[in-house]
Amino acid sequence: MNLAIVVPCFNEQEVLGTTIDHLRELLNQLIAEGLVDPESTITFIDDGSKDKTWSMIETVARCDSSMHGIKLSRNRGHQNALIAGLMTVRGDAIISVDADLQDDLSAIRDMVLKYREGAEIVYGIRVDRRTDARFKRMSAEGYYRVLRLLGVDIVFNHADYRLMGYHAIEALKQYGEANVFLRGIIPQLGFKTENVYYRRAERFAGESKYPLKKMLALAWDGLTSFSSLPLRWITLLGFTVSMFSFAIGSWALIARIFFDGSVPGWASTVIPMYFLGGIQLLSLGIIGEYIAKIYTETKRRPRYIIEKMI
Ligand code: UDP
Ligand code: MG
Repeated sequence: MNLAIVVPCFNEQEVLGTTIDHLRELLNQLIAEGLVDPESTITFIDDGSKDKTWSMIETVARCDSSMHGIKLSRNRGHQNALIAGLMTVRGDAIISVDADLQDDLSAIRDMVLKYREGAEIVYGIRVDRRTDARFKRMSAEGYYRVLRLLGVDIVFNHADYRLMGYHAIEALKQYGEANVFLRGIIPQLGFKTENVYYRRAERFAGESKYPLKKMLALAWDGLTSFSSLPLRWITLLGFTVSMFSFAIGSWALIARIFFDGSVPGWASTVIPMYFLGGIQLLSLGIIGEYIAKIYTETKRRPRYIIEKMI
């Protein structure tokens, strides 16, 4: 089997040297054991880095024929960089892994073994999140739960560390959405899937390239690209509030007609006004979010632009 490893990198000069060494060693070992083809490759996707990342990639690619690089014309985010790699690189199977070596590389071997046993997609799953900061752990686990509740088919504690076979990649190529959330799309592909488990380490150098803002953006994309339940909630909310208003309205009318001395109150006028105003704004906002999604999808803009390949 011809294995291709794809590594998205964004400003990773502190870790890249070590990552390259580790990956090369691992690949050579797999080749020596006859598990993968000697023509197997490692491709680094430079996601518009501003530091020395690309020149480092270029240097290794020149002197090692199994190492390649793809340079995107600008920073497009982890998901798009990953897609660029999956769509461009050829191989019987592609494994995607982060550049910071947080994901235990020995799981690659297990993935290859599972592939050889017939799995088309193999998910790398974190056994625990002890090494993550408390906030990140809680927010991430909470997020997976929310997505599950919303009916998004997502693999718990699996990030983008996985093996995909040729057929799965070909299937993925048919998904042309601009708002990509691979973790949501890939379970929809079907195929025979397997899991491998690993411990996630701490980033050994450099800092996280996923600040809270990017994390929230990814979370929101994942949610709105895979579930229209929030829209249904608006309908339900609207329905409930209408019933409520109808009940109060009827009561007011009855009181006015049959009982004397009912003073038209200020509170009963103003409170529902604010309440309804608030709900309407919220509903419009959520609907707007989906319209924005339609807007970006209909433009059919490219998800990434490749500047150079080596
Ligand atoms: N990354 C990328 N483009 C970005 C942000 C991140 O290609 O805009 C890459 C980064 O180089 C790393 C991977 O995505 O290989 C995961 O990023 P990071 O380790 O910073 O995320 P965390 O592990 O903190 O969630
Ligand atoms: Mg990381």
